[in-house]
Amino acid sequence: MPILARMLPSPMFVDIRAGAVAALGEVLQDRFISPSGKVLVAVGPSQGERIWSTVRPSMPDAGVFAVEDASITSAGRLQEALSERGYDAVVGIGGGRTLDVAKYAATRAGVPMVAVATNLAHDGICSPVASLLHRHGKGSYGVSMPLAVLVDLDYVRSAPARLVRAGIGDVLSNLSAIEDWLLAQRERGERVDGLAIAFARTAAEAVLHRSDGVDSDDFLVVLAEALVLSGMAMSVAGTSRPCSGACHEIIHAVDGLFPGVSNHGELAGIGALFASFLRTDRARFDQISDCLARHGLPRTPGDVGLDEDQFTRAVLAAPGTRPDRYTVLEHLALGERETRAAVADFVSHLAPG
Ligand SMILES: [Zn+2]
Repeated sequence: MPILARMLPSPMFVDIRAGAVAALGEVLQDRFISPSGKVLVAVGPSQGERIWSTVRPSMPDAGVFAVEDASITSAGRLQEALSERGYDAVVGIGGGRTLDVAKYAATRAGVPMVAVATNLAHDGICSPVASLLHRHGKGSYGVSMPLAVLVDLDYVRSAPARLVRAGIGDVLSNLSAIEDWLLAQRERGERVDGLAIAFARTAAEAVLHRSDGVDSDDFLVVLAEALVLSGMAMSVAGTSRPCSGACHEIIHAVDGLFPGVSNHGELAGIGALFASFLRTDRARFDQISDCLARHGLPRTPGDVGLDEDQFTRAVLAAPGTRPDRYTVLEHLALGERETRAAVADFVSHLAPG
């Protein structure tokens, strides 16, 4: 019999609500991820410790591992710790960095990973990609996606608001990434995946026009779902393409040239807005710009402390960060003078008054 549908890799359990963490032990047992409860819990520096102390009494056989930074070295240490006692699974509790370290270590150790997200800063909570520091900078690595994803709104609410709303920028950047992918299809014959695009676009559209914000639980649920759907889009596509185009090339360039200037989601928003400006798609540009402004997210390089010259250098360096990826930047192939002019136009277009 012919196969009439494709199977999608996905987490087998997604729970987004206040109090979701309380069910962690039950999820591990009921879903047969770790019937014995012998899991290694990787905690982040901020809220991870707090959550661990809450769930610890109900998980007597679990071990704990403190994730110091989002580096390959940390992931290697976690991988070693995983093999020491033959743990069934790793549970990452924390923000994007902790989850990325846990995803990478779990993939390398060949054990499942459960993600407990404490903020909504970017779409890594459910994605098959880990972004980690190595000796020469930051790299993106293909990893297995989490087997279960828990987002506890009680903890998300107490995370720094700036980190929570940053995820909005990462979700909106899907709209720009999709345009880049379709451009590569038209210009290069690159194969796109309509289902991956459906997930990525639906995620962004769900957030784009909402009038409420991160102080509303309804909004947080939609944002968390949008981040999960973005992860699904990448998993379906087998590449980060549906969520990463010129916007993310710009992030990688800014991270390389001016490390620490801002977080991933905020830069994704600026990158997507600038890429939409280059596409001269004014309707989309205005929608993204209005949404970023409504949530108090940065829109111009100046909003994150970069001057026009620095941003110009980042835009020029951006295509080199992903040589295999064709986006509006590679398509226009602007020289230094034209890029400088485009950045100046972009900034003055967004200037108040
Ligand atoms: Zn991203």
